[in-house]
Amino acid sequence: MNLAKFARRGYVTAPTPLEFLPNFSRALGAGVSVYMKRDDMLPGAGGGNKTRKLDFCVADALNKGCDTLITCGAVQSNHCRLTLSWAVHEGMDCHLVLEERVPDSYNPEASGNNFLFQLMGVKNITVAQKGTDMMAAMQKVADKLSAEGKKPYIIPGGASNALGSLGYVSCMEEIMAQVFHIGLKIDHMVVPSGSAGTHGGIIAGMIGNNIDIPVTGIGVNRPKLVQEQAVLTVANASLELIGVDVRVLAEKVVAFDDYVGPGYSLPTDSMVEAVKMLAQTEAVLLDPVYSGKAMAGLIDLARKGYFPKGSNVLFLHTGGSPALYAYLPTFRQGK
Ligand SMILES: *Cc1c(COP(=O)(O)O)cnc(C)c1O
Repeated sequence: MNLAKFARRGYVTAPTPLEFLPNFSRALGAGVSVYMKRDDMLPGAGGGNKTRKLDFCVADALNKGCDTLITCGAVQSNHCRLTLSWAVHEGMDCHLVLEERVPDSYNPEASGNNFLFQLMGVKNITVAQKGTDMMAAMQKVADKLSAEGKKPYIIPGGASNALGSLGYVSCMEEIMAQVFHIGLKIDHMVVPSGSAGTHGGIIAGMIGNNIDIPVTGIGVNRPKLVQEQAVLTVANASLELIGVDVRVLAEKVVAFDDYVGPGYSLPTDSMVEAVKMLAQTEAVLLDPVYSGKAMAGLIDLARKGYFPKGSNVLFLHTGGSPALYAYLPTFRQGK
């Protein structure tokens, strides 16, 4: 695949580390070796997966002559933090529309990513109730800015469209180059699955390169079948955009919903266990909303014997640790 034909800003300056987790693998005691792709260490303030997607989306915005980025997310959105971060870097304005997926959860004084929205000088935040049509809400902001003479560009939630997901098609190619270089055979991949562009991009990157490593997505929000359809749709949209004729088969897309707990962004015991375990065995910081729940999935599946003994399992760490600071009581109480 020729991803170089798409404009990028060059935010991903070097491959992120791909590391073995020896202490964690031992503590897990399930006879599997766990490796981690450290996309928490991507550039952009606070790090995390959205940088790979924004690399393509912001290039498109600038090529279209836009001067303002508009995007949306939850009240502790890492995607909003990174969109703002790259807007600052580019000298663009950034307006956010935040969805209260948990009623009344927006608090302008909150810590974590919310604090960073203020610190990095967000131009404006619009708060929307759960279930709001976020595209329409962003369009409303765009119309108002256009009337004022600005040139706004809307990035969908999570930058999970065909273009943004190219970031994870590219990540898959980066992973394959790394495991080839070190001579490692990966038997299984585990990825967080939210707005679906990360999971979809990884799957598209595999299909486009004729790679058949099983991928297990761990959903953080939607029911299994809804999430799997979202992943399939975006994966195929990316393949079409690249000009690859092959399409993803539905059976290749798995996104378990067993680790969501009471709902998006709401803590679970297994998330707390996972975050503490990675912090205390490897000094790796996960997050409460995505990578913590995804790792809880990996831990549970490994304990149930889902990965054959001797397997090398690669976990994609998508970042999000700034959100930890909005969850202090959860970790102090142990729940
Ligand atoms: C957005 C996000 C994800 C999920 O990625 P999607 O492409 O939205 O599915 C996972 N982890 C973190 C930390 C995120 O911010």
